[in-house]
Amino acid sequence: MDRQQEFVLRTIEERDVRFVRLWFSDVVGALKSVALAPAEVEGAFAEGLGFDGSSIEGLSRVFESDMLLKPDPSSFQILPWRGEEEPTARMFCDILTPDQEPAAGDPRFVLRRQLDAAASMGFTCYTHPEIEFYLLNSEELDDEGSPIPADRAGYFDHSTGSVAQDLRRHTVNMLEAVGISVEFSHNEVGPGQNEIDLRYADALTTADNIITFRTIVKEVALSHGKYATFMPKPFSEHPGSGMHTHFSLFEGDTNAFYAPNAEFNLSTTARQFIAGVLTHAPEFSAITNQFVNSYKRLWGGGEAPSHLSWGHNNRSALIRVPLYKPTKGGSARVEFRGIDSAANPYLAYAMVIGAGLKGIQEGYELQEHVTEDVWGLTTAERKALGLKPLPGTLHDAIRQMEDSELVAEVLGEQVYENFLRNKRQEWDEYRVNVSPFEINKYLGMI
Ligand code: GLN
Ligand code: MG
Ligand code: MG
Ligand code: MG
Repeated sequence: MDRQQEFVLRTIEERDVRFVRLWFSDVVGALKSVALAPAEVEGAFAEGLGFDGSSIEGLSRVFESDMLLKPDPSSFQILPWRGEEEPTARMFCDILTPDQEPAAGDPRFVLRRQLDAAASMGFTCYTHPEIEFYLLNSEELDDEGSPIPADRAGYFDHSTGSVAQDLRRHTVNMLEAVGISVEFSHNEVGPGQNEIDLRYADALTTADNIITFRTIVKEVALSHGKYATFMPKPFSEHPGSGMHTHFSLFEGDTNAFYAPNAEFNLSTTARQFIAGVLTHAPEFSAITNQFVNSYKRLWGGGEAPSHLSWGHNNRSALIRVPLYKPTKGGSARVEFRGIDSAANPYLAYAMVIGAGLKGIQEGYELQEHVTEDVWGLTTAERKALGLKPLPGTLHDAIRQMEDSELVAEVLGEQVYENFLRNKRQEWDEYRVNVSPFEINKYLGMI
């Protein structure tokens, strides 16, 4: 047993922990959890905990269903919302096959493998997510079938009397209690929309943090009698919820994206990384924007990106290079604005990093940055500037993913196939569904 495992066992004993929850995610990024008695934890460290992998969406097939959960002791945390009495703790798990090999269907493994590939090129990858979500009164809808926002506040509003502020404070405290540092939190543009930005961490930790974050936000909202949703576009008329993420690669202590005298302080490595992401973004859009509803965000305005462009301080671009602070010295990062708040963070980060590394390996040339407001241009103007669109629908995204060697390589054959199967099913369900929009528009028309 290693020292981290010993530390976990000691803490369980000292804090009198009654349940240890083992956490992992399925192929769409939904949190799965099994509660373990404290006495079983030592065995789980040694051999893993057996479960039926074929009952988890996208993990394994029926004839190879036996899987093991191997808790990662570095992720051990006591869950603060469960209260001081009879404390409950959690650990994220890696999924193993019965012969103790990483399970190909485990999204956490997909990201680990990509980070190992980065490491073999000498890079550590850091990420800083800005997570948007809507706070609703409840799961109930109004008479028109729309969700009801918890308040009417807008961007950066300091809204006294709104529950959002109390709720954000409570959420931030909970996050800090499980070791997740928060940089900013504020009201976003939509009514009831909020944003919380997590402090940067290595990409695997960030992905774990995002899963924890969603759970905490939902738990805290419920404890205030409200409901939180990470759905990409809950309202046609208000902005969707994005999960913009800032990426940077480090070589040891040096930021590999930073070059002091270059345009926007971007090194060649950074330019190639951006080029890789821009080139492959349409192919992996089904991963970063995985639901039918995701495309309503991308194409519904509200500052969501819809074309392959990059810019400095340009919020219509898919990739933005934020204003650098010369005082900070040596810092540069790249903000990818495509991902939405409902993405599986393990797979989404694996794809963005995989595409960026491909750009570096192959020495991709970066297109010109845009200074124009991309949404304000006509189709002809965008064409003249070479600004290609992201997929328009989930169907379009599936098609482009089906043709992508890079996505198959980064996800591995199994996740690639499982994911596509899951998405085709979703599209087939959607395309035969007659929506209220159609009834309103066509019933009386003809
Ligand atoms: N809500 C926007 C999106 O979906 C982002 C708005 C912002 O943070 N400037 O991407
Ligand atoms: Mg922000
Ligand atoms: Mg925002
Ligand atoms: Mg942003």
